[in-house]
Amino acid sequence: MSAETVVTPLSAHTTAYLQPPGGWFRNNAGWFTGEDRVLLVDTCATERRSRWLLDAVERSAPGKPVSVVLTHGHGDHANGARLVAESGGAVMVSPETDRMVSSGPHTFPSAFVYSGWGDIQPPRDVEIVSQRTTFDAGGRTAEVIPLATTAHTGGDLVVWVPGDGVLFSGDLVFSGVTPLAVHGRISGWLDALRALEEFEARHLVPGHGPITAPAEAIGAVSEYLRWLLDSVTAVAQPDFAVLEREGRLRWPDWHDQERHAANLRVAHAEVHGRPVEIGPVMAAMIESAGGPIALDI
Ligand SMILES: [Zn+2]
Repeated sequence: MSAETVVTPLSAHTTAYLQPPGGWFRNNAGWFTGEDRVLLVDTCATERRSRWLLDAVERSAPGKPVSVVLTHGHGDHANGARLVAESGGAVMVSPETDRMVSSGPHTFPSAFVYSGWGDIQPPRDVEIVSQRTTFDAGGRTAEVIPLATTAHTGGDLVVWVPGDGVLFSGDLVFSGVTPLAVHGRISGWLDALRALEEFEARHLVPGHGPITAPAEAIGAVSEYLRWLLDSVTAVAQPDFAVLEREGRLRWPDWHDQERHAANLRVAHAEVHGRPVEIGPVMAAMIESAGGPIALDI
């Protein structure tokens, strides 16, 4: 495990695995432990980091078989899934995540400079989750829940541990990190966040960044997404550079601020009923970052 990773028990049966943010692909994960088995929520971006995560699970729950839920198909959360499958565990995914993961791995070499991925080939077999599903870990259960709307992606899942009041939100919630809205639908994401509020969770593990009070964490992402939509709704030809500066000034402490450039363009396409042209969107983001992004993972 890398020195900066924080393993935080949230209750007797749930643990958060927090990789402090400070660049792309540094995601959070976590796990839920019963008497018989473990449900892992997400993996990491590289083979090495995913092995560190699985080592931490083994130390926490020695000898127990591990299955994994992928909250969505982005590589930072999904690239280690094959390691779980090879150890005999199930890989639970939504249909959309299955499509995204099985067509990968996606390393986006035009956007990111990095060579340390290791073996991140997708798993051969997955279990598709199309509806709310109960995972029995032995003596206690967790719920794997698809969102009703396209949000951060078209196939977001959350994991809810009702006995402990713990919600693993995946990338529906970013904490202290600029959300990334290029693969979903911002209006649907706002609906999904309203659905998350209804859990009234005691602890919420975000997809990136530190754990904060659940209502505060959900509220911050909602505020940002509403700003994206409001900034471009009444404007046929927005000055994206001006709006991006506004975003940087409004959320000065957030990591990965080049994402404003992409998110604003996605918002503009969405509110004006046009398809998102992902090539120009990514190009604008890379330009905002000053060129391809060197990963530190
Ligand atoms: Zn994501």
